[in-house]
Amino acid sequence: MRLDLHLHTTYSDGLLTPRELVAAANAGGLDVIAVTDHDTAAGIEPARAAAREAGGPRVFAGAELTCSLDGEEVHLLGYGIDPTHPAIAAFAARGADLRRERLAAMVARLNALGVRLTVDDVEIEPDCRSIGRPHLARALVGRGVVPTFQEAFARFLADGGPAWIPSRGPDVQEGIAAVSAAGGVAVWAHPALEDARQFARLRGLGLVGVETLRPRSEPAESLALEHAAREAGLLCTGGSDWHGAPPALGSWYVTERHVGELLGRLGVPS
Ligand code: AMP
Ligand code: FE
Ligand code: FE
Ligand code: ZN
Repeated sequence: MRLDLHLHTTYSDGLLTPRELVAAANAGGLDVIAVTDHDTAAGIEPARAAAREAGGPRVFAGAELTCSLDGEEVHLLGYGIDPTHPAIAAFAARGADLRRERLAAMVARLNALGVRLTVDDVEIEPDCRSIGRPHLARALVGRGVVPTFQEAFARFLADGGPAWIPSRGPDVQEGIAAVSAAGGVAVWAHPALEDARQFARLRGLGLVGVETLRPRSEPAESLALEHAAREAGLLCTGGSDWHGAPPALGSWYVTERHVGELLGRLGVPS
């Protein structure tokens, strides 16, 4: 079984609609995907509808909640949530408002840096519930300010960059509580190795797992994260965090060997 448990769609900052994502997953040979858009679960039902029509893949519900931990931004994956649960809806509504304000503030930063761009230049898909830096990066490319998406991040938008404004999410404790209330399993998305110091503390708050396997991670780092996760009593997961750019979906995947424990928690027979 091939799985990819961290994917974005046009409901946040991905390039593919849920229907296109399902088609790409089938073309790439994936048996199971999790739709994990930033701060919204609205793309799950459309993905499931498309998967029912196409006869696969199996679609797990997910969301990647923007949270804060000691003033630093952390991302929390909620697997197996009820996408319509009020705790997730409240999180999404708050996030959407903050993200709109943040977009305007980042455009103002760019203007102060001499970049001619307006909020209206930023193309937002009608379905999008979660505006992010990738939308702004694409607009900068579209307006000819920078030649490539990566250059937009390198010059302006990367963490610490001159037009970057951090996303201010609720405390991670609230995120874990929202995921748990919605019947889901809370997993720390793409932590750095130094974050391992916090694993035990977050486990005490209800964290269940850690995303230890990613396409770009060094094997030694994945192993160290896995070791730290196990020590803290947390399970390990993996996902590509694919947003629609090459390489193709399915060229990287995880198997039950790595994510079997999570599958067990989600009630998938092994
Ligand atoms: P935001 O949620 O607005 O802070 O944007 C975060 C998203 O921007 C991530 O999920 C990635 O899709 C993208 N991103 C963040 N940093 C970079 C980077 N250095 N290069 C390319 N994309 C990035
Ligand atoms: Fe993203
Ligand atoms: Fe993330
Ligand atoms: Zn992500």
